[in-house]
Amino acid sequence: MTDRVDCAVIGAGVIGLAVARAMALAGLEVVVLESADAIGTGTSSRNSEVIHAGMYYPNDSLKARFCVEGNGLLREFLAAHGVAHAMTGKLIVAADEAEEQRLAGIFDNGQANGVVGLEQMSGSRARAMEPELRCCAALWSPSTGILDTHGYMLALLGDIESHGGALALKSPVQGGRAGENGILLDVGGTEPCRLECRRVINAAGLGAQRLAAAIAGLPAERVPPLHLCKGNYFLLSGRRPFSHLVYPVPEAGGLGVHFTLDLGGQGRFGPDVEWVERESYEVDASRGDRFYASIRRYWPGLPDGALRPGYAGVRPKIQGPGQAACDFVIDGPDDHGIPGLVNLFGIESPGITASLAIARHVSEILP
Ligand SMILES: Cc1cc2nc3c(=O)[nH]c(=O)nc-3n(C[C@H](O)[C@H](O)[C@H](O)COP(=O)(O)OP(=O)(O)OC[C@H]3O[C@@H](n4cnc5c(N)ncnc54)[C@H](O)[C@@H]3O)c2cc1C
Repeated sequence: MTDRVDCAVIGAGVIGLAVARAMALAGLEVVVLESADAIGTGTSSRNSEVIHAGMYYPNDSLKARFCVEGNGLLREFLAAHGVAHAMTGKLIVAADEAEEQRLAGIFDNGQANGVVGLEQMSGSRARAMEPELRCCAALWSPSTGILDTHGYMLALLGDIESHGGALALKSPVQGGRAGENGILLDVGGTEPCRLECRRVINAAGLGAQRLAAAIAGLPAERVPPLHLCKGNYFLLSGRRPFSHLVYPVPEAGGLGVHFTLDLGGQGRFGPDVEWVERESYEVDASRGDRFYASIRRYWPGLPDGALRPGYAGVRPKIQGPGQAACDFVIDGPDDHGIPGLVNLFGIESPGITASLAIARHVSEILP
């Protein structure tokens, strides 16, 4: 039997849920198809939970545009829905003169991206804010904060359901093809079915490429490569050194081993950069050695033995090791030729921050 729906969103992470909400609010009948038995079990629950400001990404990139726009939309949403968050602010710190120059570049880039409130600081001013810091200069970002990502996803789901949308768990989408009246999706799981959908949004995160490759008629060149870049976190035991988030000047592939907090006050460091062949979430305790060295560049007081393995997330990167950073890829009918289909690829950081802006954009592509 074939069921019909206006809009199917594949994947119940922050991106799929934000897109489904935008579609439901626009009056469409929406179903979210998720292979796991709960929402948000993928990358959306394995990250730093930071509301980013948007100073790092190249000017005119989708990452810059959606991060800056998404920051405002997200903060408004969290406040309106009573989701826990805190605008802690963040310091990016330069350890030497060479890093000071790169910091100045980040400031200029942030200004060009429209980030609000960025402020350049001397090392002594930064130390007045955070006495345990070692740095010769810093950049202060007041529009950076932290959030309860799971609470955010529950609030998105609440809006979807109160606008008539539905969530189908344990519903892995195995493939699809363009039919006469829309896209036909083959859904597996305990109750396999075929769904005819006017609109399909592939928000399957690390599974987006595999799913897109199983949609008959989608040109193979519209499916970018997928490179898995794991980020490991270590948790801090004992006294917390900082009350703001503290980041070093970024390193290749990531933002550098930084200090963040969760809303319960637990301090953590990470993520590092580890290219992997397969998804894996174990944290190898021996990677801690490199953490001590990186962290002591800006916090010399880190005691021996204060770090313990925490958790890991995997970035769905389009570029491989050593290649130039890629932007988000949002591939719609004008790009690939299949009416009603949008594929989202490479939605790594700042995906949570950007989610509501991405959702708005997708709903404009598929009105
Ligand atoms: C280490 C790390 C740190 C990060 N830190 C931050 C941060 O501080 N701030 C920020 O803004 N962003 C951050 N991000 C980015 C952010 O976490 C991601 O951009 C975001 O969570 C991606 O959400 P998603 O919905 O695309 O993917 P996911 O959360 O992975 O959701 C995809 C869903 O699709 C489902 N799925 C897959 N295939 C199928 C299928 N065939 N059928 C049905 N369902 C399927 C999966 O089960 C999963 O639930 C970080 C990412 C990483 C890896």
